[in-house]
Amino acid sequence: MDKRWKNLPCGYVSMTPQGVILDVNDTFLEMGNYTRDNLISNHIESIMSVANKLLFHSYFYPFIQLNGYVDEIYLNLKGSTGTDIPVLFNGKYYEQTEVVDCIFVHMGKRIDYEQEIRNAKILVEEAYREKDAALAKMQQLHLELEQKQSELIKLNQKLETLSITDGLTGLNNRRFFIEKMNEYILQSKQTNNPISLLMLDVDHFKLVNDTGGHPVGDKVLLQLAKLLTEFFPKGHIIARYGGEEFVVIMPFSNKEKSLNEAEQLRSTIESANWEVGKITVSIGVATSNLFETTTSILSKADKALYSSKENGRNKVTHASLS
Ligand code: GH3
Ligand code: MG
Ligand code: MG
Repeated sequence: MDKRWKNLPCGYVSMTPQGVILDVNDTFLEMGNYTRDNLISNHIESIMSVANKLLFHSYFYPFIQLNGYVDEIYLNLKGSTGTDIPVLFNGKYYEQTEVVDCIFVHMGKRIDYEQEIRNAKILVEEAYREKDAALAKMQQLHLELEQKQSELIKLNQKLETLSITDGLTGLNNRRFFIEKMNEYILQSKQTNNPISLLMLDVDHFKLVNDTGGHPVGDKVLLQLAKLLTEFFPKGHIIARYGGEEFVVIMPFSNKEKSLNEAEQLRSTIESANWEVGKITVSIGVATSNLFETTTSILSKADKALYSSKENGRNKVTHASLS
C-alpha cells in the first residue's frame, strides 16, 4: 500500500491547516522535480506564484476551516526550475489528526485540450466570417449580374428599335414596313376587310437639294415625316420607303376612302408652310383584292404613282385607274 501511495496517479501532499507540508508522495516530487528535503516542513506557498498565494489566502484557508474541504482549485505551482505547473487541487481536513490531505492533478493535457478547443473556435469563427463575406460578395455579384442583364435587355430593345427605324426621320423603315404589309395583307384576307397602300414621292426633290443644299433637303424630309404622323390616325403604318419616298398602310380602307384621304393629304402638303417655298407630292394608291401579295400591291401603287408623275405631278392616282 505504501508503494502504491508513493506512486499514485496524482500528487499527494499532507499539510497542517496552516499550510506547512508534512509529507508528499513521489508523484508530487516528480511533478515539480522537487526533493523531499526541500518540501517537508516548508510552507506550501513556497512553491506557489504570488497570485496563487493570494488565492490561497482569500479562498483556501477560510473555506477549509469552514467546510473541511476544498474542491477543484486551479493553481500554478512553481517547479524547482521555476517552470509553471498547472494543477487541479482538492483538499480535505481531518479534524482528529489536524492534517489536510491534498491531491494535485497535473492539468497540462487539459490545458492543451482547452487551447485546442479555443483554436478550433477561432477557426470556426474565421470560417463563419469568410462564409459571410463570400455570401455578401455573391449577393453583390448577383446584383451586378441582374443590372447587366437589364442593361442588356434595354440595349437589345434599343437595337431592335434601331433596326426598324429610319435614321433621318424617326419613322418606320422599309424592313418594318414589308413585315407589317405581309401581316396586314394576311389579316385583310382572313377578315375580308380591304386595306390600301399609299405611295408618295416628293416632286422635283432634286431641285430642293440643288438650290438649298442637302441639309435643307433633310429638313424638308423631317417636316414631311412630322406632317404625315400628324395627318394619319394611329392605326395607319407610316414608313420611309427610301430617298424622298414614303408609304402608308391604310387599314379598313377601300378605294373611295383611300383616294379621299390621299387627296386630302396631297392638298395639305401643297398648302403647308415649307422652308423652301412650295413642296408638292405625287401619290399612287392601291387597294388589296383577294389574291394580293405585298409585291403585287407595291407594284400597283408604284404604277399609280408613276401615272401621277406622268400626268403633271402634284396628283393622286388610284391603281384601278392607272
Ligand atoms: P421627281 O419629281 O421625278 O420625283 O423628281 P425628283 O428630283 O424628286 O427625283 P429624283 O429621283 O431625280 O431625285 C431624288 C433626289 O432625292 C436625289 C437624291 O439625292 C435625293 N435624296 C435621296 N435621299 C435623300 C436624303 O436623305 N436627304 C436629301 N437631302 N436628299 C435625298
Ligand atoms: Mg423618288
Ligand atoms: Mg421625287
